[in-house]
Amino acid sequence: MLGERYCDRAGVAPCPVTDARSNQVDILTVKSLVRQLPLGMPNTEYYFCEAQDCDVVYFALEPQALVSRREDLLVRVGVKETADPNPACYCFGFTRKNIQDEIVKTRRSTIVEQITREVREGNCACEVKSPSGKCCLGSVRLLVRDSMRNVEGPEAKVAEQPLGGDDSMTITPKLNLDELAASVVRCFPVLNLLEQRLSLELYRLWLRSSRFRVLC
Ligand SMILES: [Zn+2]
Repeated sequence: MLGERYCDRAGVAPCPVTDARSNQVDILTVKSLVRQLPLGMPNTEYYFCEAQDCDVVYFALEPQALVSRREDLLVRVGVKETADPNPACYCFGFTRKNIQDEIVKTRRSTIVEQITREVREGNCACEVKSPSGKCCLGSVRLLVRDSMRNVEGPEAKVAEQPLGGDDSMTITPKLNLDELAASVVRCFPVLNLLEQRLSLELYRLWLRSSRFRVLC
């Protein structure tokens, strides 16, 4: 039966078509992005299928609740698209091509910094603009990393890039706990329950390591 496999995991359910593991999404996100809502749409838990080869975007465990597909949404779902325009950031309109073009042209990316600045100013609205309902910064960072590798090859000089100092995106494998904690605090309101729990653990870890650094 649908949902049985993941029923012991809060906030996760299998897509009814591909069985892909799907995270719960706020009903506000569904209501904001589905073009036409069904009459009598139940106030229940909805899930977001991220599988690229699947047309389903949102579904619920109750059979009478909505199942929406790509064409039912007001926006193109970036993770399911292969052709342009392929959205990477829904709040500020950056596409995958914008990320690639900047990197090809300048060998660097400023898009993460631009988005971060706007998020800090409270100008984002991921919960009503992004199909996942979550902040896009994590996936934009991954796209930047992949684009850098495509341009510079698998041996990209990511570790040799300068740390900070200007507005450009710097890529480094070194874990910066202060930056991580700041991102967690910034994005906390738009994370789902599971991610909030994980984020809290990360934040506690950071607090403990801060205390440790002070004691030493
Ligand atoms: Zn699916």
